[in-house]
Amino acid sequence: ANVPADSPTIFDKIIKKEIPANIVYEDDEVLAFRDISPQAPVHILLIPKVKDGLSGVSKAKERHVQILGRLMYTAKLVAKQEGLEDGFRLVINDGLNGCQSVYHLHIHLLGGRQMNWPPG
Ligand code: 5GP
Repeated sequence: ANVPADSPTIFDKIIKKEIPANIVYEDDEVLAFRDISPQAPVHILLIPKVKDGLSGVSKAKERHVQILGRLMYTAKLVAKQEGLEDGFRLVINDGLNGCQSVYHLHIHLLGGRQMNWPPG
């Protein structure tokens, strides 16, 4: 998809609380909320609150290294908060072949059931 890196997405409205979301974690940098179309008993999206051109992981620049690490670490905190002691999966879809649909970088946190490998 040839989406400009700074085009607004639905996630901007969620960050600004202009549309509702089931928020499970928030700090200055990261917002985590339940996916509207859950693919597992626990399905949470973790996003940077400041997009800064980070429409997808393929667009990452050196300046994004801190927030990328923060997102991954927050996924661990939220997994613990959700009681996913038996394991979980983190997914980042990128671009057309990756089935990315929202061009604001997000980590999917999936858990509460056995996952399969390789994913389809
Ligand atoms: P992608 O396909 O880009 O990796 O993931 C986008 C995810 O965002 C999808 O799993 C989709 O269900 C979710 N999503 C899209 N719009 C909304 C929304 O308005 N609210 C919430 N909570 N999730 C959304």
